[in-house]
Amino acid sequence: MADAVLMEKALGAYVGLAVGDALGASVEFMTAGEIAALHGVHKDLRGGGWLRLNSGEVTDDTQMSLVLGEAILANPAWDTRRVAGAFSLWLQGRPVDVGNTCRRGLRRFMTDGTLSGPPNEGDAGNGAAMRNLPVVLSTLHDDEAFRQRSLEQAHITHNHRLSDAGTLGLGEMTRVLLKGGDLAAAVRAMEAMVAAEPSFNPRPWRGCSSGYIVDTVRTVLDAFLNSDSLEECVVRAVNRGGDADTTGALAGQLAGALYGLRGVPVRWLRKLDPVVLDRIRRQVPALLAQGGRGMPPAHGRHENLERKAGESRSQEGLAGGIMECAAAP
Ligand code: MG
Ligand code: MG
Repeated sequence: MADAVLMEKALGAYVGLAVGDALGASVEFMTAGEIAALHGVHKDLRGGGWLRLNSGEVTDDTQMSLVLGEAILANPAWDTRRVAGAFSLWLQGRPVDVGNTCRRGLRRFMTDGTLSGPPNEGDAGNGAAMRNLPVVLSTLHDDEAFRQRSLEQAHITHNHRLSDAGTLGLGEMTRVLLKGGDLAAAVRAMEAMVAAEPSFNPRPWRGCSSGYIVDTVRTVLDAFLNSDSLEECVVRAVNRGGDADTTGALAGQLAGALYGLRGVPVRWLRKLDPVVLDRIRRQVPALLAQGGRGMPPAHGRHENLERKAGESRSQEGLAGGIMECAAAP
């Protein structure tokens, strides 16, 4: 696959994660009926919600991904302790939101330095799966490193077989798409995940969209399978309510890996926190460069992508700006 195509899909996955988080956070913990009564269909980055966010502001889903990405780039050989340290520094900075399981795991690390708690029935939340994209990008062509690093970053806060299965399964679907697989290939990866863990089967969707990893995976897969665009996928997930920022983030990650950056609505790109966008566009090429094959060449890349992005977004220059930065060393 051409380097520019990989870059466009990887940026799509990361930006999709962030816009899904920002969109969903406005309606997190609401029911689908409450969302419909308030917004009709909730489809614009409007901020608010129980966290009283600014328009385009992201939450822990995106923030922990960014922290993990920066920790990976600072320690290319992989160092779980440094990842845990980076998460802990983030927690000490009083983030706008942090899940209870993440908080408990990081406090344990800060107290006794352990990189994993014992297997715990209370650890079956979605907090490890939601932040794993930087591992996916940095291990794209190394199956063993993908598996090992995904589980090590996950166990810092979540040690449960369903969390592991969801983190690896959604990560593998994302890897398949980034490596050039089409929707059918992603569905085959999904079916392998469901065969190993039947509770993840999204057919039928059973009406739960909570932070329990099983509910989250099912809601994300339902949105992915029943949509034809990134916008439709993310909107379908977040309008289920519940843990809408996290289902939105993971739906955006998968849809971004399929449809690419050009699938992200311009009105969402305009609203997304520019500091977040800048961190994403700096991380993506560097993380991909760690993933082995697919490393962009030094010059002349993205020309076709810039042209295509420019055709639809020339007046904004935003996608072109992302590509320029992505092309920077
Ligand atoms: Mg969140
Ligand atoms: Mg959430």
